[in-house]
Amino acid sequence: MTIADFDCVVVGGGPAGATAATDLARGGHHVLLLDRAGRIKPCGGAIPPRAIADFAIPDHLLVAKASAARMVAPSGKTVDMPVGDGFVGLVDREVFDEWLRARAALAGAERRSGTFVRIEREAADVATVVYRDARGADERRVTTRCVIGADGARSGVARDEVKGGGTVPCVFAYHEIIAAPATGAGERVDFAPERCDVFYQGKHSPDFYAWVFPHGATASIGVGSAQKGFALREAVAALRTQTGLDGCATLRREGAPIPLKPLKRWDNGRDVVVAGDAAGVVAPASGEGIYYAMAGGRHAAEAVTVFLATGKASALRLARKRFLRAHGRVFWILGIMQYFWYSSDTRRERFVKICEDPDVQRLTWDAYMNKRLVRAKPGAHLRIFWKDMRHLLGLASA
Ligand SMILES: Cc1cc2nc3c(=O)[nH]c(=O)nc-3n(C[C@H](O)[C@H](O)[C@H](O)COP(=O)(O)OP(=O)(O)OC[C@H]3O[C@@H](n4cnc5c(N)ncnc54)[C@H](O)[C@@H]3O)c2cc1C
Repeated sequence: MTIADFDCVVVGGGPAGATAATDLARGGHHVLLLDRAGRIKPCGGAIPPRAIADFAIPDHLLVAKASAARMVAPSGKTVDMPVGDGFVGLVDREVFDEWLRARAALAGAERRSGTFVRIEREAADVATVVYRDARGADERRVTTRCVIGADGARSGVARDEVKGGGTVPCVFAYHEIIAAPATGAGERVDFAPERCDVFYQGKHSPDFYAWVFPHGATASIGVGSAQKGFALREAVAALRTQTGLDGCATLRREGAPIPLKPLKRWDNGRDVVVAGDAAGVVAPASGEGIYYAMAGGRHAAEAVTVFLATGKASALRLARKRFLRAHGRVFWILGIMQYFWYSSDTRRERFVKICEDPDVQRLTWDAYMNKRLVRAKPGAHLRIFWKDMRHLLGLASA
C-alpha cells in the first residue's frame, strides 16, 4: 500500500467538515482539515436542541434562545407558536464555526488555511489534494487515502468528483446583520429578542420566506428565493421598513445559495464522499442546514472509518444511506410542503391559518426540535390530514 500523508483530508471547515474531522480524529485517524479562511458564513444561525445534544454544543455559543416563532401571513395576520418546553438556539456563525474547527484541532486534526483546487491521482490507492495556501499564491499538495468534500453549496469537490455535483438547484438567500433594537425602541418596532419571526408573504419572497431572527446584541433579517432576478436586497429593505427595523445600524450585508435537493450520489465510488451543503442537504421549506450538515459530516466520518478499515470503496455509500434512513422522510414531506404551500399568497394564508391548530404546533415543534416524526397521536394526524385536505381543496375559509 502506498504511504499517504493523511488518512483523510476534509475540505471545508463549516459544521459538516468540522464535525467529520472531529469524529475521525477522535477515532484515531490522521486528518487534515483544510478551510478557506476569511469569510463568515451568511446564516440565520437557528439550531434545534437535537443539534445541541448530539454535537455537544456548549451553552456559551448560544447568543439567543427563542421561546416562540411568529408566523406572518400575507394579510399581516400573525400566529404565535410557543415552543413549550425548550428553545430554539441561535448561534453566531463567526464564533460557532471557529469553535467547531478548534474542537477538531483539539481532537487531533491538523488545521490548514487554504483553498481546494483539485484532486490528482498518481497511485491507485492514494489521492493528491492540490490547494492554494492562505496567501493564494502557491499550490500545495498533500496525499491522502480519502477525501471528505464539505466545502459548501458550490462545492468544488462535488463538482469535480461526484456525479451530479455542481448542478444542485438552489434558493438564493440574502440577509443583513443589524444591531438589535433597544428595549422600548418605540411602537413602530416589531421585534422580540426571544422570538423568531417568519414571513410567508409573496411580496417578500415569491417562493420561500423571509425572517427576522434574534442574535442577542444583533439580529438577522433576511429573505430567500429560487426565482432568478428576484430583488432580494429590496425585499429585505421593505421588510425592515415593515417591521420598523429600518432605523437599526446595518453591520453586515451578505448572501449565499442554499441547496434544495440532496445529490443522488454522495461518493465517487473510489475515495471521495461529500457532506452537508456540498451534498445538497438542506431541509426543504425551512432551509435548515446546520443540524443536517453536522449529521451528514458524522455519517461521512462513519463511512470513511469503514472505508479505511476495509479498503472497500462501497463503504462510502453508507453516508448517504444512513442519512436518508434517518431524515429522508422528513425531507420528502417538507419538499411537498414547500412546493404546495409556498406557491401563492392564497395558499400561504391558509398555511399560516393551519398553524393555529395546537396539534399542528406540537407536531411541528417536535419534528423540528427532536428530528423525529411522532406517531403517538394517530387521531391528531388524521385530523390534521383532513384539515390539510380541506385547505388544499379550498373548502375551508382562510
Ligand atoms: C442566508 C442564510 C441563512 C441560513 N439560515 C439558517 C438557519 O437559521 N439555520 C440553519 O440550520 N441553516 C441555515 N442556513 C443553512 C446553513 O447555513 C447551511 O446549510 C450550513 O452552513 C451548511 O454547512 P456546511 O458545513 O455544509 O457548509 P458551509 O457552512 O457553507 O461551510 C463550508 C466551508 O467550506 C469552506 N470552503 C468553501 N470552499 C472551499 C474551498 N475551495 N477550499 C477550502 N475550503 C472551502 C468555507 O470556508 C466554509 O467554511 C442558512 C443559509 C443561508 C445562506
